[in-house]
Amino acid sequence: MSTTRHTRLLIIGSGPAGYTAAVYASRAMLEPILVQGIQPGGQLTITTDVENWPGDASVMGPDLMVRMENHAREMGAGIISDHISDLDLSQRPFRASGDTGTTYTADAVVLATGAQARWLGLPSEEHFKGFGVSACATCDGFFYRGQQVVVIGGGNTAVEEALFLTNFASKVTLIHRRDSLRAEKIMQDRLFKNPKIEVIWNHEVDEVVGTDAPRGVEAVKARHVETGAITEVPCKGFFVAIGHAPASDLIKDQLKLHSGGYVWVEPGTTRTSIPGVFAAGDLTDHTYRQAVTSAGMGCMAALDAERWLAEQAAGEVKAAE
Ligand code: FAD
Ligand code: NAP
Repeated sequence: MSTTRHTRLLIIGSGPAGYTAAVYASRAMLEPILVQGIQPGGQLTITTDVENWPGDASVMGPDLMVRMENHAREMGAGIISDHISDLDLSQRPFRASGDTGTTYTADAVVLATGAQARWLGLPSEEHFKGFGVSACATCDGFFYRGQQVVVIGGGNTAVEEALFLTNFASKVTLIHRRDSLRAEKIMQDRLFKNPKIEVIWNHEVDEVVGTDAPRGVEAVKARHVETGAITEVPCKGFFVAIGHAPASDLIKDQLKLHSGGYVWVEPGTTRTSIPGVFAAGDLTDHTYRQAVTSAGMGCMAALDAERWLAEQAAGEVKAAE
């Protein structure tokens, strides 16, 4: 049965940005509704140790996100298990359609839909997705006990995935397209010290090679970026860790964007190009993309929304006088 729910503030997304916005908006008595999406807790639910969340020298990503959810609930936020498939920002109140059949109408919206893993875009990668090709070592690493695996990428995610996979794999090969990593130095030190990890520099992966019956990966073909020489690296698992793209599908034709799909916000604020619509976290941030910066932006979005709603209410009172 379809239902319509109205809220003063709709928060879309349940990562650090969304939950922090929910905490602040609840304390401002806005009675926000937060729609969690298909990944309740966001990206940190697919990692293990988080070592840079202030106050916790080490905390498991999924545990941290459960704590954030509980915090938002305790403050009074309505946390809804639903996924927004359509969002209409062309008129007020704004309208969002959920997969459950619920329509949400809202006076203001905080967009906190975060980012999703990027893929190489190879036909062979697509063919073996779920059959040896993965973008989540935490989810799939266990399947490769005693096997060889390859990770591609040179950022924090790739290094973290490679280190995590040494818990299961007999050998981990990290393939990177340049001759230096962009991961934090502390992570690089751990990587270089690990005897199970080999790094292949200056190579890109052109093809995933495998069998069809049963479907499975046997190797990847890596090409030297200068000489073009091909090296076949045997592996049963191929982990793609080449970064993330903002989840801006819902709004890409409605809001001003920047730098490859990130939502533009007025500098120093979370205000988007549509009044009453605010954006926070990885959806808008192509520079920092951290849990703590996302949480900070979630706070800003709730405060910006609260002020904007108050201004609207004051304007309505004045108009009625
Ligand atoms: P996300 O965490 O991406 O959450 C987005 C949310 O939006 C999800 O809940 C999703 O379900 C929801 N959503 C998306 N589309 C819809 C829709 N249509 N309808 C409803 N909901 C929707 N950062 C650190 O600071 N420290 C770390 O140690 C660290 N480790 C990481 C490890 C990995 C493997 C990865 C991938 C990232 C890591 N990061 C780390 C980065 C950190 O996870 C992100 O910066 C942070 O999660 C971004 O938060 P966010 O709230 O913007 O969005
Ligand atoms: P990232 O920092 O953007 O790194 C992506 C890596 O993939 C880069 O090394 C890039 O190469 C490489 N790459 C991109 N496209 C490629 C392609 N088509 N083929 C081959 N290689 C490609 O992404 P990330 O590692 O996912 O990190 C995202 C954000 O989350 C970052 O801000 C990061 O700090 C944060 N994060 C933090 C932690 C932590 O704090 N422990 C853990 C994970 C993630 P180049 O270097 O040549 O560009």
